[in-house]
Amino acid sequence: MTNSLSRRTFLAGATAAGVFAPALVQAQAQARLLVVGGGFGGASAANYARRAFPWLQVTLVEPQTSFVTCPYRNLVLSGQKAVGEITHSYDGLRARGVRVVHDYVTGIDAGARTVRLRGGETIAYDKMILSPGIAVRWGALEGYDEAAAQVMPHAWTPGDASQTLLLRRQLEAMPDGGVVGFAIPGNPFRCPPGPYERISMVASYLKRHKPRSKIVALDAKDAFSKQGLFQDAWNELYPGMIDWVPANKDGRVVRVDAKETVLESEFGQRHKFAVANVIPPQAAAAIVRDAGFADQSGWAPVNPVTFESRAAQHIHIIGDSNIPGPMPKSGYIANSTAKQAVASAAAALRGEAPPNPVYYNTCYSHVGDEYGISVVGVFRPNAEGTAIVEMPNSGGVSPRGALPEQRRLEALYADAWYQSITRDMFA
Ligand SMILES: Cc1cc2nc3c(=O)[nH]c(=O)nc-3n(C[C@H](O)[C@H](O)[C@H](O)COP(=O)(O)OP(=O)(O)OC[C@H]3O[C@@H](n4cnc5c(N)ncnc54)[C@H](O)[C@@H]3O)c2cc1C
Repeated sequence: MTNSLSRRTFLAGATAAGVFAPALVQAQAQARLLVVGGGFGGASAANYARRAFPWLQVTLVEPQTSFVTCPYRNLVLSGQKAVGEITHSYDGLRARGVRVVHDYVTGIDAGARTVRLRGGETIAYDKMILSPGIAVRWGALEGYDEAAAQVMPHAWTPGDASQTLLLRRQLEAMPDGGVVGFAIPGNPFRCPPGPYERISMVASYLKRHKPRSKIVALDAKDAFSKQGLFQDAWNELYPGMIDWVPANKDGRVVRVDAKETVLESEFGQRHKFAVANVIPPQAAAAIVRDAGFADQSGWAPVNPVTFESRAAQHIHIIGDSNIPGPMPKSGYIANSTAKQAVASAAAALRGEAPPNPVYYNTCYSHVGDEYGISVVGVFRPNAEGTAIVEMPNSGGVSPRGALPEQRRLEALYADAWYQSITRDMFA
């Protein structure tokens, strides 16, 4: 007994001391993981890297000193949440041993494995997780530039909440009986159900405070996520208030006139609004495109198993910047794929194969007070590892015609999801 225990103790000690694999132990001890972007993908990656692979030295570069989530911003618009309730500190990541650098990556040298920061520092890495999110494609709608966004806010990117608060103030200042306009982009874009949750939460605000007002939603598509569920809820909760105009009824906005608060459609109809929320066409964040990691679509192709960039070795691109196949550009997918990207990077550093992944998504939407709906999907790489596919019979949407109790429960599930995922990122 004593002999056997001593042998085990010796073996553990010998491995830790590098008797059997000195090069591997040394490589692990010095491995540097750089995470760029401290949002859904990046914060999840930094957190999991420290929790699952404590031998990794993890640095996170993020310009904002706190993170205001996009999820639940629509409830700030309706008045049900305050910005403080959706703002998260990076202290939890620091406590986990992540070096958090509040700066902005201005250049990537994939050959030398270094990045340049706006503040002048150069950071070297062995593996990088790049999760900088989206950029607005300024000018893709004629007349929609940064100045126009100060009149017709998009409120679609994280960072400070100034765009969301601007939209909120505009709704508060609008007269009862005014018309709120929405311009909604074609696919792909961040958060497929997000515009329709936003329409719902603006309707919720108007119903309470300005009940004679209306909403006109001009859409570049003919169909949208959870459409039947949203439209059932609109008829039930906000009868006669919301007019959704699909592309085939000239809903596609191509031009904006910020001076007049006018959205102009493909066939020349000019819609004047009291308040206009322009959700513009999007692309991968600037750093991804500037580094040459995006293709002509404006998004970055990646390996579906490891999320390594197709254009650069040792750089894993996760979150909304990449081309995710059938997966939505969602916070949940950014979080789920962050874990796989970190595990793949760690495996490569140890000379091992990446794990066999499954990616999960649930997108909840609030449609009214205590009224929630959801869509669920489960995804994995195909057998050849060449593409991501949805697993057959794995997902679905909330049932139509459900009892109010079920909608109330889904609103509670949404709140629990938010608590859980933000803990998973930041705690
Ligand atoms: C209104 C709305 C509601 C939503 N609701 C949901 C929801 O209910 N559920 C859900 O799953 N998803 C939801 N989403 C989608 C979700 O917000 C995104 O899918 C998610 O944020 C993507 O994560 P990301 O890491 O790619 O980008 P982000 O979370 O946007 O993080 C990117 C970070 O990178 C930083 N960054 C950018 N460039 C650089 C650089 N060069 N150097 C350093 N840092 C940089 C940015 O400052 C930012 O903090 C919603 C989105 C919107 C707009």
